[in-house]
Amino acid sequence: MSAVSNPKLIKYLILGAGPCGLGAAHRLNELGETDWLVLEKQATPGGLASSFVDSQGFVWDVGGHVVHSHYAYFDKVFHSAIGKTALKHQREAWVWLEGRFVPYPFQNNLHRLTKKTQWDCVMGLLKLTYGSLQRRDLKTQNRSFQNWILDRFGSGIAEHFLFPYNRKMWAYPLKKMNSSWVGDRVSAPNIIRWLKNLILAQDDVAWGPNQVFYFPARGGTGALWQTIAAKLPPRKFHYHQTVIGLDIKAQTVTLQSGKVIRYQHLISTLPLTSLLTHTKFPTHRPPALTSPAITKTKKALFSCAVHVVGIGLTGQPRPELITKCWIYYPEPELPFFRVTVFSNYAPANVPHPGKQWSLMCEVSESPLKPKFISQTGQIANSALIAAVIAGLIRAHLITKTDQIVSTWHHTALLGYPTPTLARETVLDGTLKALEAYQIYSRGRFGAWKYEVSNMDHTFMQGVEVVNRLINQTPEVTVWHPQLVNRAHSTSHSQT
Ligand SMILES: Cc1cc2nc3c(=O)[nH]c(=O)nc-3n(C[C@H](O)[C@H](O)[C@H](O)COP(=O)(O)OP(=O)(O)OC[C@H]3O[C@@H](n4cnc5c(N)ncnc54)[C@H](O)[C@@H]3O)c2cc1C
Repeated sequence: MSAVSNPKLIKYLILGAGPCGLGAAHRLNELGETDWLVLEKQATPGGLASSFVDSQGFVWDVGGHVVHSHYAYFDKVFHSAIGKTALKHQREAWVWLEGRFVPYPFQNNLHRLTKKTQWDCVMGLLKLTYGSLQRRDLKTQNRSFQNWILDRFGSGIAEHFLFPYNRKMWAYPLKKMNSSWVGDRVSAPNIIRWLKNLILAQDDVAWGPNQVFYFPARGGTGALWQTIAAKLPPRKFHYHQTVIGLDIKAQTVTLQSGKVIRYQHLISTLPLTSLLTHTKFPTHRPPALTSPAITKTKKALFSCAVHVVGIGLTGQPRPELITKCWIYYPEPELPFFRVTVFSNYAPANVPHPGKQWSLMCEVSESPLKPKFISQTGQIANSALIAAVIAGLIRAHLITKTDQIVSTWHHTALLGYPTPTLARETVLDGTLKALEAYQIYSRGRFGAWKYEVSNMDHTFMQGVEVVNRLINQTPEVTVWHPQLVNRAHSTSHSQT
């Protein structure tokens, strides 16, 4: 703690020990830089990619975490951290609709649906191709996510899956979301392929031989970040340190303890909204950082909360679930938007492998669609868990007689950074204006860009900002998400 109590100048001060902060720390260490420090409010590294062990010994992540790497550099770090022991899995994703499982991507497997739904989907495609519905210019800039879906998938696929699923997950109007984030997260349109699969009644799944992922054998996703952090000098990490103030002119950070630290360059992975709230700005400042501009920016930076409910059970899942990784639930009657068969990821995710199994359920909400969080911020835990269990029974994932031996709950109040249309007009200007003061706001909520907010992206945002500061190498991920994601446009999932 000496560096915290002694307000000496730190050359590279990193706020947050999540994947982004760890990326920056890893790279600084690799380049032989010694003048850096990480401040983290929690007791351990990992941020949203941390894992927890509940009172019964079940392991849980903060929602389904799977690595889809876009970077050779990240792959190297990942494999040197957990590569030898990691478990390899086929990425088997499904959609539950009309009382049946449909392989993901949904549009590739329409033959699994009822005839009526098949017809709705085909009608939507016909209208799109030949019908009266005027196709919007696909190159139109700033198009909404809602239009983007309609223009590519037609009204049937939109109404039966993409609209209800995305409304549920984002808890935000799709017509107010932009579509620039989509990149590799939604499978590209291929009408001929969809119709061929439908007529021939054949499955077309996204989990071919290359669709694999690796998962830590023990300790959940958090084990990856614990291992990466453990390879760095421990004296550089200061836990239980909550940043409550930032003086942009004096280049100082104030901690809850009252301690003040000076910095030369600040790499902040705090939510951008908190950073702006905590910051004391000078009287003369750029237009993007005036009080009205900051108010507008904070309003445009919307997010939804994610409740993660873990259900630990005795016995084994029914045969249909044995190889499934996760299942998307678009239907509004069910509270969760996704359920992960978490015991399938690693036997050690349950305390008694072979005798127990586990389901990890994700429920989202936002101030526009409140469900379990009151206006005063109280979370109705019991109601949430009861609703999830009832939903699991209704979705035939468990039965009334299954023995639940553990329930666990964690809410990420900031879960998904919503790519709103309003965000586009303010975000980059704000991030760039902060840089004039040597503040680099990066990471899932630091940069608020869902399109580059996975673990590989955020780790690399940390690496790239260090490369820029030390080697003057331009950053790609934060400024050009489409370049990073384009190389992997065949993968299909929403994480
Ligand atoms: C539901 C869900 C599912 C996901 N699924 C996937 C997936 O399948 N694949 C994937 O790759 N990624 C996934 N992610 C994303 C992954 O968790 C993030 O990429 C990653 O955690 C972001 O890292 P970060 O360092 O940018 O931010 P964070 O992990 O949020 O880290 C920020 C750190 O800053 C600290 N902090 C905040 N405020 C302060 C303060 N005032 N003072 C000091 N410290 C502070 C926090 O405690 C935290 O440790 C998912 C995330 C969620 C929520």
